[in-house]
Amino acid sequence: MNTADSQRAAEGLERLGYRWTKRAEEADLIVLNTCVVRQSAEDKVLGRLSSLKPLKKKRPEALIAVMGCLVDDVPALRQNFPYVDAFLKPSDVEGLLEFVQSRHLASRFTFHVSRLTFDVSRFTSPVSCYVPIIQGCDRFCTYCIVRLRRGRERSRPLDKIVEEVDRLVKHGAREVTLLGQNVDAYGHDLPGQPDLADLLTAVHGIEDLWRIRFLTSHPADMKGRIIDAVASLPKVCEHIEIPVQSGDDAVLKRMVRGYTVDQYRRLVAKIRQRIPGVSLATDVIVGFPGETEEQFMSTYRLLEETRFDVVHVAAYSPRHGTAASRLPDDVPQEEKERRRKLIEGLQEEIAGEINQQFLGKTVEVLVEEKHKGKWKGRTRTHKLVFFRDAPPLSPPTLGGMKGGRGKLAQVKVTWAGPWSMQGELA
Ligand code: SAM
Ligand code: SF4
Repeated sequence: MNTADSQRAAEGLERLGYRWTKRAEEADLIVLNTCVVRQSAEDKVLGRLSSLKPLKKKRPEALIAVMGCLVDDVPALRQNFPYVDAFLKPSDVEGLLEFVQSRHLASRFTFHVSRLTFDVSRFTSPVSCYVPIIQGCDRFCTYCIVRLRRGRERSRPLDKIVEEVDRLVKHGAREVTLLGQNVDAYGHDLPGQPDLADLLTAVHGIEDLWRIRFLTSHPADMKGRIIDAVASLPKVCEHIEIPVQSGDDAVLKRMVRGYTVDQYRRLVAKIRQRIPGVSLATDVIVGFPGETEEQFMSTYRLLEETRFDVVHVAAYSPRHGTAASRLPDDVPQEEKERRRKLIEGLQEEIAGEINQQFLGKTVEVLVEEKHKGKWKGRTRTHKLVFFRDAPPLSPPTLGGMKGGRGKLAQVKVTWAGPWSMQGELA
């Protein structure tokens, strides 16, 4: 979501005539887009913010704006960081653009936005774009600060989303990822209550758009209609991000996740049955308050049994203001790390084995960019693939070197590791 917000901020600033700089220190406007989901993320933001203080002293005319989930108690932030010119709530790109217009009268300025993981040539017309469809979250997961900072759910009107995707495709996008903290809740607050399946169907009609993704799904809200839409709409990719967080019922209950392990298992079985070849990603938190060794092992065994393609694992981090922060944080840090590493090791093995099955097979890759002399892209199942730029790179596959971006390439896999694959044009 933050990457999407940064992308939108960068596009807005470009429209105002700003140019992008690689280094923040060279820019007339520095935007820090912040994440505070865990203490480590917050520490990183605070460190970066402090490191900008001498710059502001040297160049007081350079503007510093802080956006994102750090921005909660603005008066306290102003007191702690008096050299910051503006604080904007998460996703408040409009507010950012209004602020810079009020302070910079000419449009010959440069900017730097954090969390842009791509360079300027890409955000002007990226092949793969993020499109927020629902802001905020109405769930009550007890560990989560995001819902406190991003507010209640607000769905964007379906026609506005279709219009935006259509515009992005006209500018060269070939893949969109529809975003929300809980995309399965999309539409309940809109007139007529369209749902994610309706939105996927509407976006599917856009010509020259080849791939549609969405994230993140919530196990308690992923209805059969959504699974059926993925199964029946050819442009919707067979990849689902469905965080389980824990493999133990008592822990899930303390997290207030709203499902049991058994219900989750049945959901996965249904997804796999209806969407052949689907790849699944999940999130897990280890060391949640009161998590015993046995409860942790239930999570470990669930991952062993389910064999996800991707697992994002995090050590529990108490966040001020959340319900869980009032529970004793009783799993020692070293123990959290041990559990995290155990899961990482297991997943490395599983992902390696899953990807080995692609060796010698031909996969369809949407080419996103050049990376260290190789083309880089993803399969429909979101697997990262690098392939050599060797001849024949001619039409109709890639349409020549420069035209490689945004094309679909058939790539024969020659090497497969847990995190990526290598191949050559088939
Ligand atoms: N909405 C999604 C969901 O329901 O899981 C994800 C939202 S959250 C921003 C992204 C991930 O960060 C979560 O899936 C969780 O694993 C992790 N996370 C959130 N709060 C955390 C905390 N207090 N400590 C550790 N990890 C946390
Ligand atoms: Fe946070 Fe839970 Fe909402 Fe995800 S579903 S954003 S974890 S409250």
